[in-house]
Amino acid sequence: MIQTKNLVKTYGSGELALTVLKSLNLAIGDGEFVAIVGPSGAGKSTLLYQISLLDEPTSGEIYFDNTPTASLNQAEKTSLRLHKMGFVFQDYALLPELTALENVALPIIMQGATKAAAFAKAASALERIGMGDKERNLPSQLSGGQQQRVSIARAIAHDPQVLFADEPTANLDSQNGQLVMEAFLDLHRSGQTIVMVTHEEEYARHARRIIALKDGDIVGDTVQS
Ligand code: ADP
Ligand code: MG
Repeated sequence: MIQTKNLVKTYGSGELALTVLKSLNLAIGDGEFVAIVGPSGAGKSTLLYQISLLDEPTSGEIYFDNTPTASLNQAEKTSLRLHKMGFVFQDYALLPELTALENVALPIIMQGATKAAAFAKAASALERIGMGDKERNLPSQLSGGQQQRVSIARAIAHDPQVLFADEPTANLDSQNGQLVMEAFLDLHRSGQTIVMVTHEEEYARHARRIIALKDGDIVGDTVQS
C-alpha cells in the first residue's frame, strides 16, 4: 500500500545540510501493523512525515496504492490525507471545551457531513475503541490513556486506509500506554493498517513488524509471530 524508493530527506543546504533519511526502500502492505523504532534523532518522525505526505522528500519516490505521490498536486495530497489517512500524535490535541463525542465528530462535520451523520460515525468510532461510555466526558474528566483513545477514535472515524501514529504513548505511564496499545491491537485485528513510530521497545513489541532506523538507515526489519 505504501512504498518508498530511494527515499532521501535532507534538511537545510550547503554546509548546514543534514541528510536524515539515506535512500530508504520500504514497502508496507494492507493490514500490516508496523512499528518504526530507533533512538531519538534516528529519523523516525521524518520518515512518517514523508510517507504520510505531510512533507516532501528531497529525492526518491513514495507510492500510495501504487500512485506515485510526486505526480499529485497539493490539493490532491490534502484530499488523500483527509480521506485515506488518520493521524495520532503524542499530545492528544483534543479541544478542552468539547466532549469526547464532539471532539471526534468535529473533523467529520468540517468535511461536510451533516451533524447527525457525523455524530453517528463518532459514536461508532468511540464504541470501537472501547470508549462508548465516555462520550459525554470532557477531556479533563479523562485519564491520559482515555484521552489518547479519543484521539484514536477521531483518527479512525472516517475509516482511513492507514492510521499513522507518532509516539502515541510518550506522554503516558505504562498502564495507560498498555491501554492505548490494546486499542491499536484491536484495530489491527479488525484489519486496520497501522504505522506507529515509537522509541519505546516495550510498546513496539506489540506490533507485528518492527522496522529499526538508525541514523537515517534501516538497520532491522523483522516480522513477529
Ligand atoms: P526521531 O523522530 O527519530 O527522533 P526526527 O525525524 O525528528 O527523529 O529527526 C531526525 C534528525 O533530523 C534530527 O537530527 C533532527 O534534529 C533533524 N530535524 C528534524 N526536523 C528538522 C527540521 N525541520 N529542520 C532541520 N533538522 C530537522
Ligand atoms: Mg520523533
